[in-house]
Amino acid sequence: MDFQFTPEQETFRRELADFLLTELKNYLIADYTWGDCYDPAFTRRAGEKGYIGLAWPKRLWGGGRSMVDLHICTEEMTYRGAPMMGHWIAERLVAPAVIACGTPEQQALVLPPIARGEIACCVGLAEPQTGCDIGGAETRAVEKDGYFEVNGQKMFITGGQWCRYCLLLARTGTPESRHRGLSLLLVDMRSPGITVNRLACLYGDYPFSHIFFDNVRVPGTMLVGEKNGGFKITTTFMNHDRSSVELIGICRRLIDALVRYCQDTGAGRDARVRQRLAGLATETEVGKWICYRAAWLLDRGRPMDVESSIAKVYASDLMQRIANEALRICRLRGIAVAGRTGALNVEWLQKLYMNCLARTIGGGSDEMMRNVVAQWGLGLLK
Ligand SMILES: Cc1cc2nc3c(=O)[nH]c(=O)nc-3n(C[C@H](O)[C@H](O)[C@H](O)COP(=O)(O)OP(=O)(O)OC[C@H]3O[C@@H](n4cnc5c(N)ncnc54)[C@H](O)[C@@H]3O)c2cc1C
Repeated sequence: MDFQFTPEQETFRRELADFLLTELKNYLIADYTWGDCYDPAFTRRAGEKGYIGLAWPKRLWGGGRSMVDLHICTEEMTYRGAPMMGHWIAERLVAPAVIACGTPEQQALVLPPIARGEIACCVGLAEPQTGCDIGGAETRAVEKDGYFEVNGQKMFITGGQWCRYCLLLARTGTPESRHRGLSLLLVDMRSPGITVNRLACLYGDYPFSHIFFDNVRVPGTMLVGEKNGGFKITTTFMNHDRSSVELIGICRRLIDALVRYCQDTGAGRDARVRQRLAGLATETEVGKWICYRAAWLLDRGRPMDVESSIAKVYASDLMQRIANEALRICRLRGIAVAGRTGALNVEWLQKLYMNCLARTIGGGSDEMMRNVVAQWGLGLLK
């Protein structure tokens, strides 16, 4: 792996930065924190610029670029605080599944509006009773005359409240069939029988939903991939999205803010502060290349499940430690000064501190990721 970007990639990063600096100039710092905010207007403008669907094939409304390029885009967007929720799940999780296993009709239905930034999508895997164990999903899809009748519920669904389609994992086999009896359905969220309840998270926003399906009819043509083949597709697209460079973008942003804060307030005169910040900056640099390595492997069609799991654990742990350090450095004095100078906005810091916890769970909990590393990386079979 080459530990530097090509001149074209550096140019691409600068173009993106210019676009983001213009687009986000009117945002309040506290609003544009972690990339998990929803702003449909921003999503549309990103679509117009061709920044959505970068790594999809050109013949399927994509940019035909590499996963490394997509990572550059993601890192830059989270570093600059772009509100990515309007396209994140649609572009990174739903679209890859539809590209890999969907019918041409399904592709024509969802890919163009996602690329234009017109629709958001969600992924419905977790359930109240099963959590991480998606192989035990209990939401049922019973095949009838040309359609599936869906009953059940999905929990902690990011963006469920604003999405147009849900890529739903539902049981089409017997209750005992475990992961061999699950299928993926592309569900139109305007279908009768769907109820979406928003869920508040620790820092007060409502990014998640609890979705109920009550005798929802999903046309048979909306089955993605083979019947009972949904588990394999799900683990593949989840693994591909786990390299977590978005967390590194956030870490970089926070380190920069802390450095500015230390310069503004003189906190950097303390040798312990300098030591700790230098250590975390070094780890951020290491984490960045761990994430890019997963993308680099994917570009070469090589397995990257273990690498992306390592990246997810490393980056989410690092983000948590930087947030802890930020609170330690700033203490009350920091809060007072930060509000005035804008170097470290207190609301922003509070949100980050609480947001960090969720990052160690969403997209695959740290324990589950370590299971992958132990089993497939180290050969420590159960
Ligand atoms: C920010 C965020 C976004 C999310 N977005 C979505 C989404 O868009 N769509 C979606 O479907 N879900 C989403 N989820 C749900 C998430 O993916 C998890 O499935 C869910 O939060 C875990 O369920 P639970 O909280 O019931 O934990 P449980 O599954 O009950 O797990 C509890 C604890 O036990 C550990 N554990 C469980 N099984 C094992 C095991 N085999 N080995 C070792 N440890 C284990 C877990 O790591 C965890 O620490 C999101 C969650 C978060 C936090």
